[in-house]
Amino acid sequence: MVTDPPGNIAASGPLKDSSVLVLPLPPQPGNAMQPRPNSVRFPIVLCWMGIAVLLSLLAPAGGSAEGLPAGVERLSQRWFLRTRDEAGSRLNKPLYLYRDMVGDREQYVDLFSYHMRDSNGDGIDEVRISHEPGSDTHPAGFLVISSQGYPNHPTAIFPNSGNPNSIRVQDFTFRLPLEPRLAEQTTRLPMGPIGTALNGVVFFNPFEQGGMNAVEGYAEVWLDACCGHPQQTGVYHYHKYPSCVKSPFQDDGKQHSPIIGFAWDGFPIHGPYETAGVMAHQSDSSDSPGLALDACNGHADALRGYHYHTTPGRFPYILGGYAGVVEPGNNRGLRRAGSGVIENNAAGNSAIGRGIVAVRPGAVPPGGKRTVTIELEPGAGMLATGAGPETGPLPDAVPSWVQIGPYEATAISRTGNVVTISLDIPEDATLGVLLDCHLEFEGAGRGGRNRVYKRNDVLRVVE
Ligand SMILES: [Zn+2]
Ligand SMILES: [Zn+2]
Repeated sequence: MVTDPPGNIAASGPLKDSSVLVLPLPPQPGNAMQPRPNSVRFPIVLCWMGIAVLLSLLAPAGGSAEGLPAGVERLSQRWFLRTRDEAGSRLNKPLYLYRDMVGDREQYVDLFSYHMRDSNGDGIDEVRISHEPGSDTHPAGFLVISSQGYPNHPTAIFPNSGNPNSIRVQDFTFRLPLEPRLAEQTTRLPMGPIGTALNGVVFFNPFEQGGMNAVEGYAEVWLDACCGHPQQTGVYHYHKYPSCVKSPFQDDGKQHSPIIGFAWDGFPIHGPYETAGVMAHQSDSSDSPGLALDACNGHADALRGYHYHTTPGRFPYILGGYAGVVEPGNNRGLRRAGSGVIENNAAGNSAIGRGIVAVRPGAVPPGGKRTVTIELEPGAGMLATGAGPETGPLPDAVPSWVQIGPYEATAISRTGNVVTISLDIPEDATLGVLLDCHLEFEGAGRGGRNRVYKRNDVLRVVE
């Protein structure tokens, strides 16, 4: 699998603080099928983002309480709470700020406001943040994340021919140690949620129910173009770097990736890049000694302390284990998790991928409409699902939906076996990361579900 970043990524420049996820409205479904989660609400998010970005950066950290901006209090070494605005008025929603390196400066970063929206229109914000006092294991206290676990980005329509489950709104409460600390032993990852992305959608370990690698090999499961899918109780989750999650900052691959979520030990999970054009799993090269990722997928540097990286295309993709002392209340499986890191058991070839032969070109520049062609294989075998294998010839129709990474096709046409789509790639697209393609034929699956096809690692956005 090709995961190396392109060679033409330029030297680092200032980080752009815009991270607006520009996505078009989806086509209206032609029948009573469930709405695609949240897509229609993106215009609201877009308007609001302009405000969030202004609030996101306050000032360089002073390193002492005296250096803090007015209205900001310290919760731990890295977490701060802003309860009042600059004029001294109390904020309706306090802001939880994380002291982090952004570009070449240490900043207080508002990680969550981007996602603290009622994105599914049920009157409840997708993510709500508070904090509470400590316990014996974590005396500095906890950041409390209440989440609906509901994707605030376009997803495939579930159930479909690749997955019999539906996405359901959850009522999660997770506690992140405000002062994470390394443990003497690595805690083994449980099944179920192992951490949360900033949008409140959970990360799972790389294995599916049968214990086999869910991302590669013959047991690969059907993940949509945002690298997620729902399990039996409707929990939508990511098994690998979720290309659709935006932190408050874009990831142009020109410096260390921003934070995209947190593990249950409280340590942050960053995107894939360690430095300009170099992903963290490549940083064991001679020019960056000591930065090789450990088996948990983490490493420590002087500026950020210990942190994890996602590793697209390389096991364990998100976490390999917990290096820190976990908060066991976040997953019942942690009480009997034991110690050790997980090992890759991928074997053989994936059953997914037949159906889409090729996607061309393999790279497009950001900031504009791009035409992409998808070559289909007629008569291709179908993915076997938990409900039994679903087989049949490739439909003759024009696909009803195509999505590559976070980008939904705005126009779809078909000539013979070649589907031509148009994608609007935003200026601030994440650069260099290989994106997955999924394609749907409305109503062409068993029971009138959508027939879905998938091919991974087909396109990246490159300047
Ligand atoms: Zn899964
Ligand atoms: Zn790093």
